[in-house]
Amino acid sequence: RTKGEGRNGYRFYEAEMDERIEARRALSTELRGALDRNEFLLYFQPIVTKEGRIRAFEALVRWNHPKRGFVSPADFIPLAEETGVIIPMGEWILQQACVIAAAWPSDISVAVNLSPIQFRHSDLVLLVNSALQESGLAASRLELEVTESVFLEATPAIKTALVKLRERGVRLSVDDFGTGYSSLSYLRRLAFDKIKIDQCFVRDLPHEQSGAAIVRAIIDLATSLKMTVIAEGVETEAQRRCLLSLGCHELQGYLFSRPVPAEEANVLASQQGLRRGKIQAA
Ligand code: C2E
Ligand code: MG
Ligand code: MG
Ligand code: MG
Repeated sequence: RTKGEGRNGYRFYEAEMDERIEARRALSTELRGALDRNEFLLYFQPIVTKEGRIRAFEALVRWNHPKRGFVSPADFIPLAEETGVIIPMGEWILQQACVIAAAWPSDISVAVNLSPIQFRHSDLVLLVNSALQESGLAASRLELEVTESVFLEATPAIKTALVKLRERGVRLSVDDFGTGYSSLSYLRRLAFDKIKIDQCFVRDLPHEQSGAAIVRAIIDLATSLKMTVIAEGVETEAQRRCLLSLGCHELQGYLFSRPVPAEEANVLASQQGLRRGKIQAA
């Protein structure tokens, strides 16, 4: 590379950076108004038992942007966290998810993702209580998913919030298990009901030896701590079979269903209620 190219390359890089920062700024401005304009909606993905019955749905937020179409939560959740929009957005998600779930048969729960920011900057116990009260959903039908990053700074306040939520009867899950803060000591200090194995470990099953070894270790650990293990990102029949042979309790992934709009989730839920049927593995 000559000096000239280097300079051009650098200038090009700088321009690209500026563009990206500008795009981010624009998106974050739009994000702030999106809640008032009703541009967010919830999709729901089934979590199924070993036998293929829907045990719960995970609520997954979508942003239906008037010009860009559907924006992925992977793109706007980090932005919502940086700008603080996650606080009112998270409140709306929780209320909305509880209202929708309250209409399902009573043996089906709803799992809601929480951002670590919500633990730091809102009164989650109050929020959860009012969402349950207003929707009439039983506390035992609400599961809160938190990632390991919450424990990076598990302050006494966060710990107290988790204990209170659990005393209220709400279930707690560790999401994306194995990808974040890897000290396991929090599992001893904080009481969790479920562990969700991240899809990166599921992806290479059943062929990848080390992947299977990690999944087996997680399942054994969780089972001996009396926690339920859910595998995420199950896409193939071979993965399903492998996970079940390793002792996994529940499964979630495209093999069973993609995340679907609320109306479709309602149909899946009520069909099961009527037929006591199962989701057929595709
Ligand atoms: P997550 O909580 O781990 O959710 C699972 C993600 O995996 C979802 O992506 C889901 O659509 C996707 N998925 C499910 N089955 C499969 C599969 O078989 N194969 C593959 N490749 N992917 C599968 P999504 O909806 O794009 O959400 C991404 C992440 O954004 C979530 O990861 C969660 O961390 C965050 N998120 C989504 N909704 C919310 C929300 O309401 N609140 C908060 N705080 N975060 C959310
Ligand atoms: Mg989740
Ligand atoms: Mg996950
Ligand atoms: Mg994830």
